[in-house]
Amino acid sequence: MRILMVTAEYAPLAKTGGLGDAVASLAGALSARGHDVKVVMPLYGDVDRSRYDVGRVSGLPDIPLRQGRVLHQVRLHIWKDPAGPDVYLLENDTLYGRSGVYGYGATGEFNDTAARQAMLGAGALALPQLLSWAPHVVHVHDAASCLALVYLASWDVRDTLLADAGSMLTIHNLAHQAIHPRELFEDLDLPRKMAWHPGVMEFHDDLNFMKAGILLAGHVTTVSPTYAREVVGDPEYGCGLGGVLQGLGDRFSGVLNGMDRKDWNPATDPALPASFSAKDMTGKTICRAALLKECGLEDGGPVLGSVGRLVPQKGYDLLTESVDDLIADGWRIVVLGTGDADLSDALREAAGRHPGRLAFLDRFDEDLARRIYAGSDVFAMPSRFEPCGLAQMYAMRYGAVPVVRRTGGLADTVIDADKPGGTGFVFNTSTTGALTDCLVRAHAVWQDDKAWHKVLRAGMATDFSWDGPAAVYEQHYRKLGATRVHRPSGEGPTA
Ligand code: ADP
Repeated sequence: MRILMVTAEYAPLAKTGGLGDAVASLAGALSARGHDVKVVMPLYGDVDRSRYDVGRVSGLPDIPLRQGRVLHQVRLHIWKDPAGPDVYLLENDTLYGRSGVYGYGATGEFNDTAARQAMLGAGALALPQLLSWAPHVVHVHDAASCLALVYLASWDVRDTLLADAGSMLTIHNLAHQAIHPRELFEDLDLPRKMAWHPGVMEFHDDLNFMKAGILLAGHVTTVSPTYAREVVGDPEYGCGLGGVLQGLGDRFSGVLNGMDRKDWNPATDPALPASFSAKDMTGKTICRAALLKECGLEDGGPVLGSVGRLVPQKGYDLLTESVDDLIADGWRIVVLGTGDADLSDALREAAGRHPGRLAFLDRFDEDLARRIYAGSDVFAMPSRFEPCGLAQMYAMRYGAVPVVRRTGGLADTVIDADKPGGTGFVFNTSTTGALTDCLVRAHAVWQDDKAWHKVLRAGMATDFSWDGPAAVYEQHYRKLGATRVHRPSGEGPTA
């Protein structure tokens, strides 16, 4: 099949979290199964063009895109992902010329986010005509690319190469919905009925791109079966769209993400000081010692690693509140993450209180992340919610036993050590006490070498490959047929 994917992140070109990894590895897996996958994303100012050999597509004209009174020109670049897909990057200095995917951090979200998302959506749909390539499916990922489905529903594409394209949305995180003030609607060049009740974008008098994508997509998936149940069953997880998702019935389902087992392989990972595999774990001991040295920590207890975005979702507050007890218990702790100032301040203070015991690294560093997975005994992910989570899968593959909260994809990927075939330690409630109790349990098992290695090896042996999930996506694509977009009952955008 010919599959057009639209995304704000694609690893390794641009990645802030799991979205970039998930889209790239799904696209690669589909490509390996014989599909023709083309991906569209923005060419951000900090994409390393020379390292990845990103180049201008020759012989193609610029794409003119109107936004209100501004006429933008978009130039098309390409990166040929060795894993298979062709990745097309939209170049526009005004909207994408600066560094950053979303602009989070000290400056908050970029104030032209809606315009950036509109350019991604409209630019992606220009591609088929330019390349004389008719996709069977337009598959958008997360709120940032949902406008592609809104334009698909609004434009008259009857005599174009998009005429027979089915549509699909994958929600990687429902908490980020691309909600914008309604005043920005005039710049989107869409029929007014899209934004006014009962228009698909209307959301408490604002615009909600994710809601529009959900209502228009021929099928909607999210990235784990448990998260799919949680978002419709619990208003806190649903973030205001639980009812909308529930209304989809069997047009909504959960498909667990796989991981790229070739890229994330401790036997071949060039970022590690020593390689290892389940057959020969000597390299893991070297990685552990090297990590302690790199982070200035003394040995003496189990090494607890964590890598992630420092946001309330990830439960880092629970970890910071428990560090004093954990250090007293002998743990050595390494945290790598960027995000909210209060969480990084708390971790920095904790590191100051516990020199030689706790290291906090406040940066985005993919190689160091890999050394933490490889060098840690335990990997902590006390998330409040977790659509899928890839970090715990990487940790298991690299021989770090996960300690996770039973939610979303964590519940679907980690089996508690108390059960047959256990691969980690799972706790239920989002409290400091529950996390520390769980770590006490893990510590006790860590002291028993044989029992520990049983859990660790069960995790390493778990197959989180894309083979199964990619086949499920294929089935969904086939079922979409030529239903270009779903028409919500009663009203619906017209061409
Ligand atoms: P999410 O998508 O919510 O961020 P995931 O567990 O799915 O969570 O994916 C997180 C990905 O981002 C992992 O590959 C993790 O290693 C990576 N990551 C997060 N923070 C950092 C960081 N500061 N440095 C390097 N990699 C990071």
